[in-house]
Amino acid sequence: MSHYTAPYLFCPACGKPLQNSIIDNHPRSSCPSCPYIHWGNFSLGVGGVLWHNDKVLLVQRGHNPGKGMWTIPGGYVDQGEPIGEAIIREILEETGIKAKPLSIIGLRDLPSERHDTYIIFLMEFLGGTLQAQPGEVSDLGFFSLKECSTLPIPSLTLSALDASHAVSQGLVFNSDVKLSSKLSTLYQIR
Ligand SMILES: [Zn+2]
Repeated sequence: MSHYTAPYLFCPACGKPLQNSIIDNHPRSSCPSCPYIHWGNFSLGVGGVLWHNDKVLLVQRGHNPGKGMWTIPGGYVDQGEPIGEAIIREILEETGIKAKPLSIIGLRDLPSERHDTYIIFLMEFLGGTLQAQPGEVSDLGFFSLKECSTLPIPSLTLSALDASHAVSQGLVFNSDVKLSSKLSTLYQIR
């Protein structure tokens, strides 16, 4: 299967058999009877670095990939959900903690069969009580940097903790610019 063609045979919009057409220089699955074109298979994830009293919120993954590893909380963005709301929802679901996004401090791009992009936010603690999401999270807590050094933590999470101490704030939400679509949000370097 090419990255450009659909992993299914029939149009998900109208059910007609898909055909291969050359569109923007690549053979792409398209529908002969409606406007559907398979542009690819993308997923968008978010993670959040949340410090509270000089300790960072980490969760122990309850299943693979990375079962048993300690990471920042996060998950996948729903279709139509603003990324800044997705990270609030994911942290609350996984940990019981309320937080709000301050800025974007990292982005991991994984252009594989399912092109997966993961955006890392710096968060502000608002409140709540630690409560692990059953199944997803097997353990959780706030940890000092010294305590973190004794846990199995993937390099992506370690780099996010580093970035959260950077001089630059990273990409900050800018509501002053009116974009053409009301659904758009702009994050800008600060
Ligand atoms: Zn169709």
